[in-house]
Amino acid sequence: MVQNIQFINNKIVVPDEPIIPFIEGDGIGKDITGPSQRVINAAVAAAYGDYKKIIWKEVLAGKKAFELTGSYMPDETLDAFKEYLVGIKGPLETPVGEGIRSLNVALRQTLDLYACVRPFRWFKGVPSPIRYPELVDMHIFRENTEDIYAGIEFMTGNDKAIRFRDFLINELGVDQIRFPETSSFGVKPVSKEGSERLIRAAIQFAIRCELPSVTLVHKGNIMKFTEGAFKNWGYDLAESEFSHQTFTWRQYQLIEKQEGKAEANAAMSKAKSLGKVIVKDVITDAFLQESLLHPYDHSVIATLNLNGDYISDQLAAMVGGIGISPGANINYNSGYAIFEATHGTAPNIAGTGKANPSSLILSGAMLLEYLGWDKAAEHIYDALDHTFSKRRVTSDLFTMMEGATLLSTSEFADEIIRNIH
Ligand code: NAD
Repeated sequence: MVQNIQFINNKIVVPDEPIIPFIEGDGIGKDITGPSQRVINAAVAAAYGDYKKIIWKEVLAGKKAFELTGSYMPDETLDAFKEYLVGIKGPLETPVGEGIRSLNVALRQTLDLYACVRPFRWFKGVPSPIRYPELVDMHIFRENTEDIYAGIEFMTGNDKAIRFRDFLINELGVDQIRFPETSSFGVKPVSKEGSERLIRAAIQFAIRCELPSVTLVHKGNIMKFTEGAFKNWGYDLAESEFSHQTFTWRQYQLIEKQEGKAEANAAMSKAKSLGKVIVKDVITDAFLQESLLHPYDHSVIATLNLNGDYISDQLAAMVGGIGISPGANINYNSGYAIFEATHGTAPNIAGTGKANPSSLILSGAMLLEYLGWDKAAEHIYDALDHTFSKRRVTSDLFTMMEGATLLSTSEFADEIIRNIH
């Protein structure tokens, strides 16, 4: 029976025929949405027969919404995501012009989707610039509401910048601004509450999926009270809320200091043998190198907004690029979740049949996992593995693969459906 997904006692409760609102998206959104839905429907049918099914409900945003309603993000769309809790979207063009908010940011802020979750794994056959892409299996939890992305910026010369500069110099005694007369300013709010809820979600995810580690990635050596505090709050949280399920690098260091290296190593080995999640931290620049050299050392990554932006693109490139990299924006306290293709609208190839729908399809697989329909998600992963390993691909991958067969967006979706057993 068709019903709404509900959030009860901190858990989503999913009917057998949930209504899922979707935004088609601009540019290649139109090309990838239909084929992706066909693949997702086929995977659900293969897993559950007639017992479960998604009821897709289109909601408007972007250019299509503007043409039909005069608004890029009609209130009905935001209301639908609130009412139905879980949705999916294609890419949206950010309208150019000052004063117009990014539609993606509007959605994230309105629903307070504080965790940007992005898994990175390699599919057999996909071209990669690294030697052992099969070792990549990482999940980024990027804080989505704070940091310099909060948008508190003052342009040099304008009244607010002058007042802000004078306040810093005269009231707070700041004397390290190198060129005060021509400086613009940006403010980087990082809160305990915001950090904790993101890190909590990352640790809970690692525990639930039986993953070995959570790495707190930060630039706390330079930004001690924002990024450094993020790290400390993370360790505090792991040691207080998850003391039975985690062992932290900070605890290791304490034992090492008090009892010696052998004792610390023994404690670490014991924690691992008990299946505890190891919580550690790495400075951002070192992490960019580490993740290339030793990707298997990092399983779940909890990080701040800007770091998460940079790291995501590097990890995506390591496993085949943005065309096959999925994502989700989630509030684990309210249950709201929007799954999305992480690439843009690719206007240069819109309408040509060249777009790779994998990012949206894999975002659909994440959505299925969020609903608890893991069996259907597995069908998608297996079929994609099969399709890529047979080198039957869309044009973005075709040009990089020897002996590949070129398929259009729709043909590629048909091939995946054929490979869903
Ligand atoms: P883009 O991701 O649209 O394109 C970058 C390059 O990647 C292009 O060469 C494009 O052809 C290619 N590409 C992207 N997705 C592909 C796919 N699925 N298959 C094959 N090739 C693909 O980035 P851009 O050009 O910087 O941005 C275009 C527009 O998209 C802008 O308006 C931007 O604001 C918007 N955007 C939206 C989102 C989102 O909705 N989440 C994300 C990024 C950019």
